Amino acid sequence: MTSKEAQLIRTAGAEIIRNSQNEISIESLIPFLNKIKRETSGLELGGAFASNNRFYKFPIQIIEFHKRRKSFWSLKNKCTCNLYLSKSYLGFNPDKEAEGATIQLIHKMKGNWTQDYIMQCLKCFEKYYVSERHYHYMWWHWEPLRFERQIMLSGNAPIDDEFQLLIKAIEQAIKVNNISKDSLIFEKERLINYQAKLADKVDTRDYEFRYGWNIIMDEILKEINQKIKNKG
Ligand SMILES: [Zn+2]
Repeated sequence: MTSKEAQLIRTAGAEIIRNSQNEISIESLIPFLNKIKRETSGLELGGAFASNNRFYKFPIQIIEFHKRRKSFWSLKNKCTCNLYLSKSYLGFNPDKEAEGATIQLIHKMKGNWTQDYIMQCLKCFEKYYVSERHYHYMWWHWEPLRFERQIMLSGNAPIDDEFQLLIKAIEQAIKVNNISKDSLIFEKERLINYQAKLADKVDTRDYEFRYGWNIIMDEILKEINQKIKNKG
């Protein structure tokens, strides 16, 4: 990190980022924090669409986060998974992160072009909604899993996770201002297909009505139909 050589810094930075959740390895870098900051200050690493400066800026933020956590009692409870929410680094691939011991892939779903995920931190049990994005290059948006609507759960975890991810992904997709008519139709179809899938299986047949999922799906369908109508 202190080499001033772009390739070395990228490699070292990626290694620190890969260990962002590992207290032991990141805390061992705290004594070098000032030196890393000094040696990378003002350094320009280039990069076509995303600045490669993220390979030293974000590692510095990671070390600072762990340092604050170690020194302030009030931050002790702030879990390392908060680092996934950073705006300065968008490269946390959920499939890769799930290979580590601290976060788990709960559910993954193919959407219109991209994947959506529910991830769960195994340290604090916070759940995250992650969506893959493409804009010149692939990146991932992480946010704590929250819903616009209250969803009653069935207690059947795999189905609950699948349903929650579907609703979250569709809510997010149709919120986009310039969404195309084709995309709206895609979202409508995947909702209708899911309704059919629930109805088709003996053990999930009554879920829609028992847990009020039909109300949620009907509301969203109405919203989508209105948006399609507005597109003319
Ligand atoms: Zn956590």
